[in-house]
Amino acid sequence: EAPPEVTLFDKIVKGEIPCNKVYEDEVCLAFRDIAPVAKTHVLVIPKVREGLTQLQHASAEHKFILGHMLGVAVPAVVKSEGLNSYRLVVNDGADACQTVFHLHMHIIGGGKPLSWPPGVPR
Ligand code: AMP
Repeated sequence: EAPPEVTLFDKIVKGEIPCNKVYEDEVCLAFRDIAPVAKTHVLVIPKVREGLTQLQHASAEHKFILGHMLGVAVPAVVKSEGLNSYRLVVNDGADACQTVFHLHMHIIGGGKPLSWPPGVPR
């Protein structure tokens, strides 16, 4: 499918749409999901989308961004939120419920134990 040229996450990075920021560095921004599914529901995004509309479009040129997200930004949020259990989710594609085509990782946890599994409704 043709992804939108600019998503709402670009507008959040630019400050054109407000967000509830929990972490920021030179590469990533993390903010609270507007429709949280747990006590902590934070989205971690790269400030510059590059070609990362979806994780399946990642290639070797994205190793730095992806490593920074997983190795720096996610642990920083997990620590600052005081999580000792959480779920890290990437919805990759419309049939996986991806709605914003700017790579993002959901950090979900806190409060009550999470349920499992996700998957196909039956
Ligand atoms: P996904 O469905 O994986 O593409 O995730 C997109 C997420 O963005 C959803 O969980 C939405 O609730 C969230 N979202 C949509 N608009 C906003 C917004 N303005 N601020 C924060 N989160 C948002």
